[in-house]
Amino acid sequence: MMNVWITITRKKAHCRYCEKDITVQQPQVVCQYFWVLRNGKKWMKKMSFHPQCWVKQGVAAAKEKAKEYVEKRGRKRSDLSDAHKVEREKILRRHSSFAHRLNVEMEKDGPNYEKVANICEKMELLKGVIEPYGGVPKSWITEDNDG
Ligand SMILES: [Zn+2]
Repeated sequence: MMNVWITITRKKAHCRYCEKDITVQQPQVVCQYFWVLRNGKKWMKKMSFHPQCWVKQGVAAAKEKAKEYVEKRGRKRSDLSDAHKVEREKILRRHSSFAHRLNVEMEKDGPNYEKVANICEKMELLKGVIEPYGGVPKSWITEDNDG
């Protein structure tokens, strides 16, 4: 359990985040944790933050959480090196340009099916190309099911 409140500092405190002092008469964020131990004893910990530091550490924690979430979903994008990311972007662009050409062809009154088959084949090949660069995007697979 956690309680958080803002108070005006009466006694000089120490900011948990930036390690600097919080001076008297300045607002501070107080964060109080409670734990109830198995033997029934309560354990309490109080921490002080500058209000801006409280926000900073909160944002940092939220970003960390978001990153973990993406990693857990198995996208593995953050594991890719920059060179890999650039390569992946190129493949994605190639794929969307093929998808565009496919749409243009299909919207014609008399689509050239040889051309359509050719574009589809190239898009299919791109799946193998992008696989080592973080896997086939879900959207590509959905497109496949629809077609
Ligand atoms: Zn601070």
